[in-house]
Amino acid sequence: MTSSIDIERLLAPRVQDIETSGIRRAWALAANCVDPINLSIGQPDFPVPDALKVAAIAAIENDHNGYTQTNGDPALLASIEKKITNDVGWTFGDDSSLSAMVTSGTAGALTLACLAILAPGDEIIIPDPYFVIYPTLARIAEAKAVFCDTYPNFRMTADRIEPLITSKTKAVLLNSPGNPTGTVLRKDEVEAVAKLCRERGILLITDEIYDEFIFPPTTYTSPATFSEDVLVIRGYSKTYGCTGWRLGYAAGPSRLIDEMSKLQQQTFVCAPAPMQQAAINAYDIDLRPTIERFAKRRDMVIDALGDVTELIVPDGAFYTFPRVPEHLGMTGSEFILKAAEKNVLVIQGNVFSLKDTHFRISFAAQDDRLEEGLAILRSLLA
Ligand code: PLP
Repeated sequence: MTSSIDIERLLAPRVQDIETSGIRRAWALAANCVDPINLSIGQPDFPVPDALKVAAIAAIENDHNGYTQTNGDPALLASIEKKITNDVGWTFGDDSSLSAMVTSGTAGALTLACLAILAPGDEIIIPDPYFVIYPTLARIAEAKAVFCDTYPNFRMTADRIEPLITSKTKAVLLNSPGNPTGTVLRKDEVEAVAKLCRERGILLITDEIYDEFIFPPTTYTSPATFSEDVLVIRGYSKTYGCTGWRLGYAAGPSRLIDEMSKLQQQTFVCAPAPMQQAAINAYDIDLRPTIERFAKRRDMVIDALGDVTELIVPDGAFYTFPRVPEHLGMTGSEFILKAAEKNVLVIQGNVFSLKDTHFRISFAAQDDRLEEGLAILRSLLA
């Protein structure tokens, strides 16, 4: 039987407007390549640590397969609150006006936050370059994404944010370490952003999904260290290589968490129960060997490409966002086609930006493949 109704007519503008063509083009390229060197993927190349795998299997076997409380399994919430207290000094409990909730991934937390605060006509300031879903989240909430141009050094500083604030601004969305740039804001920079948002009565949402991927001597400071008027959003996907587990969390003003929780109850319901159980002791895992490995890969990228392209050294995450050299006379979209012809997959800048002058390399790839891919990219960029 074939469908006879006109689905096109039924679709709401919010889905028709979502721009996925650039990403689809990147996927189509991957499908056409035989065993490509894939430097396009935004997920770790390492397996889930054994301790977490064992805990996940045990959780299923021990019948932790039903709904959990909307806000999350109490034991997981306790470990999240402990982690936030250690990292930013916040306290939770009956005397506190702060709370936390477990979400279906960081993306789930970002979605709930945007739906909770944005109404038609409202504005949210996001970085450019940005993580792909940020403009879409604004669109879904029928709000306007206001792009904070952070080129060429990719630092979303208070000086750059301030002129974009209007009476309609509800939130600023910060992402440090950033996707697609790997840029990590300094302590004084996040302090200034936190202060600005607080003074202007705007919510600061901080997407800290890459908070553990910090390359020494760089250190990470969350803006939540300086203000409690901040919504901290973090996840397990990248840190523990479990992107498919759909696990993240949000912490911030209880009044806001309560509203996000209400929305979660009537949409996602709760984050996956066995995965919540599995993650209770995740913070006991020593991440140093992983970070060292990624720092070495970062150095491989700099060594290979640092002198042939304008490349801001990433201090965190596992991406870099080099510029296509002007002498090549190509956009990011044109360059990635050339790379794909040589069997290397990277993503064009306009998937993450209003501009198309750069491209994203993910160095979450095996060392030998990364080395091979970088040598090819070098030959194309030189
Ligand atoms: N935020 C950023 C900056 C990301 O890069 C990603 C994933 O690539 C996400 C959020 C979503 O992650 P999750 O798997 O936790 O939903």
